[in-house]
Amino acid sequence: MRIVLLGAPGSGKGTQSQRLVQRFGIPQISTGDLLRSAVKRGTPLGIAAKDAMQSGKLVDDSIVLGMIRERLSQSDTATGFILDGFPRNLAQANALDAMLGEVGQPLTAVVLMEVDNVELTRRIAGRRSCPNCGTVYNIYSMTLGSDLRCTNCAERPALVQRPDDNEETVIHRLRVYDEQTRPLVAYYRGKGLLRTIDAQADVDAVTTALVSALSQPAEGTARRKRVSGKAPPKRKAPPKRKVAAKRKVATKRKVPTKRKVATKRQSAAKRKVAAKRKTAPARKTVARRKVGARRKLATSRGKRSASRSRRPARKSTRRR
Ligand SMILES: [Zn+2]
Repeated sequence: MRIVLLGAPGSGKGTQSQRLVQRFGIPQISTGDLLRSAVKRGTPLGIAAKDAMQSGKLVDDSIVLGMIRERLSQSDTATGFILDGFPRNLAQANALDAMLGEVGQPLTAVVLMEVDNVELTRRIAGRRSCPNCGTVYNIYSMTLGSDLRCTNCAERPALVQRPDDNEETVIHRLRVYDEQTRPLVAYYRGKGLLRTIDAQADVDAVTTALVSALSQPAEGTARRKRVSGKAPPKRKAPPKRKVAAKRKVATKRKVPTKRKVATKRQSAAKRKVAAKRKTAPARKTVARRKVGARRKLATSRGKRSASRSRRPARKSTRRR
């Protein structure tokens, strides 16, 4: 299970990643965490990343990919991983594919978590957290009501909004997602990896949909979805098709053998004709030699300038 969760900010990728970690026992690889850890440990890639960040630049894709690659060499990724926060654009997706191919751990599924923009804005712009215990709330959720204070802490501190979560920033982040990341939907559909789920529902329902989507064939790879309501045939179907395909190949092979006989006869006839014609090619070469001789004559007679290219000259001699 080597999974990428695709979705706009606020679609719940982080929450669902954690659910998958618990369910399947595979690690979540967060590029943000990898960066922070590498910088902290002072690894070569971490130093490179720190240099970029300190000079106000974006950390190069190759550095991030290097970190993911290092992470994949750890034994806990043997059964799979969930990639979080990467890739965010087509260039990164291509580079990731190439790198995963090199290490022999290609992606097995990409799940698009679809949530409409109004809901996304509500989710992000409505997010508030407790400065004391870190519990995340949403001002639009029913449980919180109008009291914007933490219910977990005895001193009931006032909830705060992350500067990144204000409405203006959210609209910008959603636009960046549409421009940069959304093209990955078509990219992964083309690769036969995409599954789409409705991530508008509550967290548990989304988890159910996600787990179910992972056991389904990718979009565009199979049209057996209606039949696949019964679980077992899904796995039994491919071998049957293989057998059917083999039969087809077998019947196809039978036809060419008949044809081969025909072509053998034909070629025998052709050989006879060719044998009769054996004198013909000789004539042709003689003719060519004659043309060549004419050309030589032409070049010596017509005092053409050296700057002229040869080709047009030859054409003109042919016309004569
Ligand atoms: Zn609290």
